[in-house]
Amino acid sequence: MRHAETGFDLEVDLTRGNIEKVATDPRVTRLHLGGEGAAASILWERVPPEVDPFSPNNLLIFSAGLLAATPVPGANRTCISSISSETNLYVNSSFEGFFGPALKHAGYDRIVIRGKSSDLVYLWIHDDKVEIRDAGHLQGKSAMETTALIQRELKDSNVQVAAIGIAGENKVSQASIEHANSSASQGVGVIMGDKGLKAIAVRGTRNITIAQPAELFALCNPLYGEIYDNPLCGDLLLSTDDDSWHVNNLAWSNGAERVKGFWTTEIAEQWEVREEREEISYQWENYSQELEEVRETVVEKSELLRGTGCYNCPRECHKAFSLPGHRKYFLKSYSKLVYAMAACADLKLNYDVLFAMQEYGLDEFAMVQVFSFALELYKAGILTEADLPEFPADGVGRFLYLLEKTAQRQGIGDILANGISQAASRIGKGAEAYVCTVKKTGQLPLRRETANYSYFLMYAAGEKMDITQVEGSFPQVPIPDRAAREEFVRGWDAAPQRFKYWFLEWEDGQQLSTEASAEIADWNESMHYADDALGVCPLLSSFRGQFGGRPSYHLYNLPQLVSLATGMELDADGLLEISRRNRQLVRAINARRGQRRVDENLSADLWPARDPDMEQKHLDAYYAFKGWTAEGIPAKETLDAWGLGQVSEDFHKRGILTGSETPLVVV
Ligand code: SF4
Repeated sequence: MRHAETGFDLEVDLTRGNIEKVATDPRVTRLHLGGEGAAASILWERVPPEVDPFSPNNLLIFSAGLLAATPVPGANRTCISSISSETNLYVNSSFEGFFGPALKHAGYDRIVIRGKSSDLVYLWIHDDKVEIRDAGHLQGKSAMETTALIQRELKDSNVQVAAIGIAGENKVSQASIEHANSSASQGVGVIMGDKGLKAIAVRGTRNITIAQPAELFALCNPLYGEIYDNPLCGDLLLSTDDDSWHVNNLAWSNGAERVKGFWTTEIAEQWEVREEREEISYQWENYSQELEEVRETVVEKSELLRGTGCYNCPRECHKAFSLPGHRKYFLKSYSKLVYAMAACADLKLNYDVLFAMQEYGLDEFAMVQVFSFALELYKAGILTEADLPEFPADGVGRFLYLLEKTAQRQGIGDILANGISQAASRIGKGAEAYVCTVKKTGQLPLRRETANYSYFLMYAAGEKMDITQVEGSFPQVPIPDRAAREEFVRGWDAAPQRFKYWFLEWEDGQQLSTEASAEIADWNESMHYADDALGVCPLLSSFRGQFGGRPSYHLYNLPQLVSLATGMELDADGLLEISRRNRQLVRAINARRGQRRVDENLSADLWPARDPDMEQKHLDAYYAFKGWTAEGIPAKETLDAWGLGQVSEDFHKRGILTGSETPLVVV
């Protein structure tokens, strides 16, 4: 008997209209867990490199984390994996919320979608009843409206919906898949649109069995209080922290102009909640399972109304906002940083543009890059009035203008909708110099004052194409005072001890050693791979996690939760091994699609002074640590050691490896 997972995938062929419930191999769980790990193994097996992202044979996989729907608090993430049309490489993104747990309660660990529907459709999953339904009436609707309409149509407000907006329908590179004030980005929305799939609606009513339920509950119950009280958990930026560190220490904007230091007391005051009175009401949440008591802080002027969280999580990362004269809506976790990423001192930019992005189904991080890129080209005279007719003069107006053009693929928006890398090639006239991408994917538009080589590695060699899905919490700069450093590392019990030593010895103005940078990058990404396989929200774990203080989840307590939930024997070494195996597999998918060392480069001005030799030395150290060849391909002995013999055989057949290559050695 399988515990914590259902043991079944739902296979949907949209070309044929075929739906099958397929039993899965328990070895895949033992090797890769669930979520992204299991999805990567399916992509490796079934999407060879000849398959174009827009081919019907490309797969779009919605994969619930292994711990989703178990009592483990905050384990609710769903990974969405495919081959990206922007990069022709592996893509994985995830959303929190309620979808993954609902899917598992319906009896499936994953939905594997292939083929394409000629008409717009949506998928309705209600336990064993699964239908492909016409979605003609949903065409052009936002994801939020689509959710409401489907729930009304199905007469059930507990149905969980993941949907694309008009941007996804128009195959815009920056399109997201939206669910419960959360979204998956990095181009998975484009693939969903290409398949003619407007939405997936799920309602699950079955139990999930747990290997040792009493013991698991005994461990999880105190975790709720711990997560609730832990200052390191949840989206700290949104309500409990100010942005001064980000805005004052990092320089934002994709363009040549570096902008920082625009956090002011006035902005901080704008953001504060001005409490007037507290009310208690009883409300149906869109996606909650029952009528719930809601404590609402009613305020007269402030924008921040109240927060809500995700399935089985005591944090409240999604905030309802209301500005007089504007519609009330929920911000997604982390979206507050958009104004900073856009290098726009006007915090109010958020209120207007974030809602518009949710309406169109556009990813916030990606659209900030489009905004910065287009603005820089406009300032440089590369884009002119002829390209941007009636371009507004103010920041909010310009952002809204570009959002509409891009989502609708109108005029310049039709070019920008292919991603800024392709757009720069189409525009020409030197536009390439304004592009900040890695492997053709736009990156978080921040600039660092000095090089940080673990960040270089995470940006350049990371496979997830989004630094926030790779980075961890090892400080980005040293603390000058030794006593302060010692105080800072006191709580570092969730990371290897040598990291503490590296930080203690790190003096102002120095770089960490290549060995330290490579291992920090590896550790950070390994923790994310663990979260993404288990469905644990990184805001409780990897992202916050291993260094400053005590996060609720880390390498040393997750394995016990997995063991009690699934019955698998797992310890810290075992979890780290699976995370690293998943990482190797993802690298192999991309290596098979042609990714090589030359692709692992960054745009020129990520920091002011670049040292190409040092960057190459760090890549060497990282490749050596990973057991890769000098070209960044996992060597045969590495793959065999990680239990990925089928990958080395395939590499051999395809001539990617002859078998005589050895992992790079750094002397
Ligand atoms: S920490 Fe926040 S984003 Fe993560 S699951 Fe909990 S409420 Fe959702």
